[in-house]
Amino acid sequence: MGQKSERAKILLIYTGGTIGMVKDYATGALKVFDFDELLTKIPELYQLECSISSIAFKHPLDSSNMTPLVWSKLAEIIEENYRQFDGFVVLHGSDTMSYTASALSFMLENLRKPVVLTGSQLPIGDLRTDAKENLITAIEIASLSDGTEALVQEVCLYFEYKLYRGNRTTKINAEHFQAFNSPNYPPLVESGVRLSIRYPYLFKGQDPLKGLVVHKKMDANVAVLKLFPGLSKALLNAVLNTSGLKVLVLETFGAGNAPSEDWFIAALRTAIENGIHIINVTQCSGGGVLMGQYETSERLRQIQLINGKDITTESAVTKAMYLLGKNVPHMKFKGFFESALRGEMRQN
Ligand code: ASP
Repeated sequence: MGQKSERAKILLIYTGGTIGMVKDYATGALKVFDFDELLTKIPELYQLECSISSIAFKHPLDSSNMTPLVWSKLAEIIEENYRQFDGFVVLHGSDTMSYTASALSFMLENLRKPVVLTGSQLPIGDLRTDAKENLITAIEIASLSDGTEALVQEVCLYFEYKLYRGNRTTKINAEHFQAFNSPNYPPLVESGVRLSIRYPYLFKGQDPLKGLVVHKKMDANVAVLKLFPGLSKALLNAVLNTSGLKVLVLETFGAGNAPSEDWFIAALRTAIENGIHIINVTQCSGGGVLMGQYETSERLRQIQLINGKDITTESAVTKAMYLLGKNVPHMKFKGFFESALRGEMRQN
């Protein structure tokens, strides 16, 4: 098991969401929690061997209002405080937490410290809240070190006793405390009586010769289209003709299959010839794309659809924004997308 480093310094960044709310018992309304009072409200935090500083967004966001611009602001906060702190805990609404976790994983290249996103289904002051456990354990995990360096060196998401690789997660339930899952990658840490750390699964792809590189530019000219039986030509064309569109994430059936009708394939082929990148991801919650396994995906392979393998839609969208933001040459986009950059997809 990893050790807690001597008083690790943790920066808590509150962006918004239920976790940072308390109930005003006089009115029953939820209001934003004063983060300066954090230690008074959760005295358990005193027991952690770390010192906690916090930054709260002036206007906390319901995460449905999250934008790429706010991701850049978050990446900037982490960059500015990177040297002074040993770990970062980002408090975030659960609704779009997987998007933010995925986005940050791409934006923070060569990360050597933990960035743990967490939130809760019930507000922090609620009697049955999941906020305390999520927050306390997220901080505890962000404090772990092997004596010389942080144990977890990637962007993660902690919820309901499990730490996941952030860019592998997806929100699966709007009510249960277990709101997230990582269908194609095992949890990195499980919290029980002890913290059980799955060392082989921790991200180790950093370049030892390079420091943190922060990419703040995200290009949001991306669309997602989920296939369904009966999808019309008009709808497909409307999406493909969206002004400024550069990437379409196509949620296909099963192992990456789509209608083999000529009009459908022709529309995709024309879009690709016109410079739009089309990424094949599965709409199944687990497993991935195997292009060419069936005839219905072989045609997609022939017209050069990008193989999204076992990536989540959240990760595909944010990876596309990141690669576009980096101005990756058009010819190289497919190759970059099909390689795992931050452990977000299988290698082959
Ligand atoms: N609507 C809230 C949000 O995502 C829900 C939550 O905090 O979990 O911001």
